[in-house]
Amino acid sequence: MDDVYEILIVGAGPAGLTAGLYGSRSNLKTVIIEKGLPGGQLLNTEVIEDYTGFEHITGVELAQKMEAHARKFGVEIKTGEEIKSIRRVDGLFEVKTDENTYHSITVIVTAGGTAQKLGVPGEDAYSGRGVSYCAVCDGAFFNGQVITVVGGGDAAVEEANYLTRFGSRIYVAHRRSEFRAQKILQDQLFQNPKVEVIWDTVVEEIKGNAVVNRVVLKNVKTGEIREHPSEGVFIFIGFKPNTYFLDDHPAHDESGHLITNDRMETNIPGLFAAGDLRSQLVRQITNAVGDATIAALAAEKYITHLKHKQSEASA
Ligand code: NAP
Repeated sequence: MDDVYEILIVGAGPAGLTAGLYGSRSNLKTVIIEKGLPGGQLLNTEVIEDYTGFEHITGVELAQKMEAHARKFGVEIKTGEEIKSIRRVDGLFEVKTDENTYHSITVIVTAGGTAQKLGVPGEDAYSGRGVSYCAVCDGAFFNGQVITVVGGGDAAVEEANYLTRFGSRIYVAHRRSEFRAQKILQDQLFQNPKVEVIWDTVVEEIKGNAVVNRVVLKNVKTGEIREHPSEGVFIFIGFKPNTYFLDDHPAHDESGHLITNDRMETNIPGLFAAGDLRSQLVRQITNAVGDATIAALAAEKYITHLKHKQSEASA
């Protein structure tokens, strides 16, 4: 088949664009398929201060730079096309989108994940103006301010601990009277004098003017409703990796993140994963681009090895 890609990348966030750069720079026929616009979560991040070499850059600017850099080496980028299914058929990957069917020797999945939303009034309107889903990205903007963290899992408790570096006071609103987070994270939280946990409580609404200044809380046991002053609202009620289109069901951890080896390869030969949907300790731009570099160069080696085996067999 003439139109077979050598590398097909799912998603054009920092990991996808980096894999595209390395794939096309290795002279491989490389395509990135993105359901929105190139940039991924960068497009929802106002300012980035922790990407090495950039002390202060907007998410949009960094996305544009990454896209331009990847295109310089000839990567094809198809936007506005959503992947519906990916499966291995006769040694190639068959990739179906809402518009087309593609074939590729390797696939690198960099589709990230989606933070669960509370779904309360004010959440979308104040997203980026007080409401955040990433403490490392946005915590520093709330220096000396009151922050409310929502959730009771590892992410909420760990990120609440992290936010104590910035906030004057950290409230953790949790819908039950105990956390599900690991004990060690809870101990750290309870020992911090800046933290107060508000048990049995859900957020009903997020309010403000230009930016957030209060949340409406409801005690689920007593039914009491009150307004609680808060400039930051950090929501950590779960993160769902975007892997729903992988029909071959590669191995994943208990939270659905894909398990890879140190070449970023899943247990499906030729299927690689990079960035936020990979099972790993941290989820930052820096390690997403690191993952993607490894994935693209490992895919190149996989393809070279495969072609070598095929030419040996036909000789
Ligand atoms: P999670 O473990 O699913 O916890 C979600 C939390 O949000 C739970 O406390 C849940 O309450 C609460 N919640 C869910 N829906 C809610 C709603 N609509 N309103 C209010 N509260 C709601 O999610 P996570 O903390 O993001 O962690 C995801 C996975 O990543 C987990 O496997 C976790 O172990 C892992 N992780 C690990 C680390 C680490 O090891 N350091 C760090 C971060 C994440 P209930 O408890 O009442 O259900």
